[in-house]
Amino acid sequence: MTRKVFVVHYSEIGLKGANRVFFERKLMENINSKIKSLGGSAKRRSGRILVELKDDSNINAIREALRTTPGIKYFALAEIVPLDLDKIAETCLLVLKDKEFKSFKVSTSRSNKNFPYNSMEVNRIVGEKIVKSTGKRVNLTQPDVVVHIEICEKEAYVYTERVDGIGGLPVSVSGKVISLLSGGIDSPVAAFLLMKRGCKVVFVHFFNQTIHSREVRRKIEEIVKVLAKYQDRSKLYMVDFGDAQREIIKLVPAKYRMIIYRRFMMRIACEIARKEGAKALVTGDNVAQVASQTLDNLAVIYEASRLPVLTPLAGFDKEETINLARKIGTYEISIRPYPDCCSLMIAKHPETRSKLDTVIKIENIMNTEDLVEKALKNTEILIIDPREKTQKSL
Ligand code: ATP
Ligand code: MG
Repeated sequence: MTRKVFVVHYSEIGLKGANRVFFERKLMENINSKIKSLGGSAKRRSGRILVELKDDSNINAIREALRTTPGIKYFALAEIVPLDLDKIAETCLLVLKDKEFKSFKVSTSRSNKNFPYNSMEVNRIVGEKIVKSTGKRVNLTQPDVVVHIEICEKEAYVYTERVDGIGGLPVSVSGKVISLLSGGIDSPVAAFLLMKRGCKVVFVHFFNQTIHSREVRRKIEEIVKVLAKYQDRSKLYMVDFGDAQREIIKLVPAKYRMIIYRRFMMRIACEIARKEGAKALVTGDNVAQVASQTLDNLAVIYEASRLPVLTPLAGFDKEETINLARKIGTYEISIRPYPDCCSLMIAKHPETRSKLDTVIKIENIMNTEDLVEKALKNTEILIIDPREKTQKSL
């Protein structure tokens, strides 16, 4: 009877000293919060994280949890072997037993420098045993299968299948950001990219009460639920923006509506950021993709934010964004038609070269602070847990 463990590796570039311990701890905590109900338990050992399993652990669900955790470069379900070269070789033969292959290679990494053989020697000795016992040949450049051996302080790990993680940094090592989440394709991808850079993302969606509100809400909740797979429990602010929208329609010339509307979003998101202790906003803006996204307009829109506005899709082609949306699982939900509350704001001939002083003059006829306050009052906060069927309101 063999014992198995998930061996988890992260990218170590740029990680030194205290920074590294902080990073490892966060990654371990993030993994644990996802897998504790699945019968797994993550520990830090010899520059890697080990996920220990029990007889009744849900291996497939744990694999999926690791596949969607930022900060992991790759991982593998490995056999645990005592520090004994004969036993290591035996286990290599065992993991190759049901495999179809003509050629192979042994790849050893040794963090335990007290082990009496170095990596090259282990590769050679175990390789020879495999040739002798299976008759297969060694191919160092293009093997059909690679047998990995990791020799650590207390034991060794043997496996053949490496699963790529999503890379990046563990969620929360970089702090918190506020994602302005529409029901479109772009903003969910932007939020994902920031999670991948170690940010905990809090979501904000602006809507107005219409007969379609329930449908809109369901769509936004579904998108957040998919994104919550990557960062775990997530907060969603649903901001009813009807009052500000009505004021804008009443007082603002059509071609400026979208810009002023989006400046309101910035102000409200900044207030939410203050409450949450978030350091930046994130949008799905992409330079020059739609009328509101000319550089002139983005400059005027972002001027209303006291915080930096991060736009990770700025340099993406639409196709790149779509591919990523498919990969992370939001695309199919995003393309579902739904009544976007912005559609009321779309002018036939929108301003593409807005000027800040003109926009501020128009805003001066509205009671901006009041409208921001009203919208904040008309806000519902939801906690979305990727494991639960129904959402809770705070
Ligand atoms: P997306 O695909 O994310 O909707 P887009 O290319 O369609 O982006 P817009 O709809 O103009 O462009 O929106 C630009 C950005 O403004 C969005 O990416 C999002 O960050 C933010 N945004 C737009 N509408 C809303 C909304 N109702 N609630 C929250 N944020 C929004
Ligand atoms: Mg949109």
